[in-house]
Amino acid sequence: MSPVSRRTFLRGSGLAAAGLATGALPSVFAAPSPAAGAAGDAAAPVLLNFNECPLGPCPAAQEAVRAILPRGGRYQFGLVPELAGEFARQHDLPVDHVEVYAGSSDPLNRAALAFTGPGRPLVLPDPTFEAVADTASGQGASVHRVPLRADGSHDVRAMAAAEPGAGLVYVCNPNNPTGSVTARAELDWLLANKPAGSVLLVDEAYIEYTHERSMLDQVRADAEVVVLRTFSKIYGMAGLRLGLALGRPDLLAKLAAFGSNPLPVTALAAGLASLRDPGMVPARRQANAAVREQTIAWLQARGYPCLPSQANCFVVDVGTDGKEFAAAMAAHGVVIGRAWPVWPTRVRVTVGTAGEMARFREVFAQVAPARSAAA
Ligand code: PLP
Repeated sequence: MSPVSRRTFLRGSGLAAAGLATGALPSVFAAPSPAAGAAGDAAAPVLLNFNECPLGPCPAAQEAVRAILPRGGRYQFGLVPELAGEFARQHDLPVDHVEVYAGSSDPLNRAALAFTGPGRPLVLPDPTFEAVADTASGQGASVHRVPLRADGSHDVRAMAAAEPGAGLVYVCNPNNPTGSVTARAELDWLLANKPAGSVLLVDEAYIEYTHERSMLDQVRADAEVVVLRTFSKIYGMAGLRLGLALGRPDLLAKLAAFGSNPLPVTALAAGLASLRDPGMVPARRQANAAVREQTIAWLQARGYPCLPSQANCFVVDVGTDGKEFAAAMAAHGVVIGRAWPVWPTRVRVTVGTAGEMARFREVFAQVAPARSAAA
């Protein structure tokens, strides 16, 4: 079949042509993606590159933003304790263990500033979300990268032993870019065995996509741990900016010491509405998992191995230069994530809607030939 007729065929028969049944997909992820451009704009690129949620803020959050907009001339400082209180109540935390930020990048950087520096190294897995390493090395801290284990989990024993004088040990669970999880018992072991005087930073940006147990109970127990949460992922609010740092008040005070900045009332209103929408996270978790597993199964059947993922992203080994592969996909209108230096032939793919992933498979099949009938 020529590439053109193959394209037409795939478009005409949709997921069925890609060997997938649409019937099982939860409807929430069958919706068109607002992130991919104007609704119904078939020419807009499919954006699978930043681990965003293609659904955007939930309807209740959008309504809350519209409702608060006319009062956007006021700081409305009371919204911050209201949001912190709601989260604290839902997670059985003292409210002074919750600090609200404009996204989780801000407290992530603050943690690097507060707990690393010359003579206070950072330890982190490799590959992972490296922002904390950039900030730490920028202020003179040495950075010790510990390769992930073959299954994508953190090598907690190697991390604990990496730097006896470490100031900060960074864990990302599930990890970005892999979406892989590290067993809770392993994280507890790391907390108990990390270098004396270091702080464990647990980035839970993607935890809502999983059924894993959060480390928030260690925050509740006043351990030397700071947990980060964000509204940028499953809550679909990356552009609105809202995140949380959870920890003992003395640890949170070290982050707060770098200054404060009033928060956007639109983000606070959307965050509150999202927290108060009990069905939203389970529905999105289920929908994301269904689309993710279908996509991974398709790739593996074509001979392209993927690590198991529980998040809204995964890595696939394309067996060629990942950067060039991503550029070829982008040239066909599907923008995927990047490769990491430690894994040059693997690329990260964000899980989009069912329609977006059908387009992903269509273009992937054009860019990369099937390597075997079955993985
Ligand atoms: N942590 C992880 C693991 C991420 O993947 C990201 C963004 O992709 C962030 C933190 C920062 O997200 P935000 O600042 O939007 O909360």
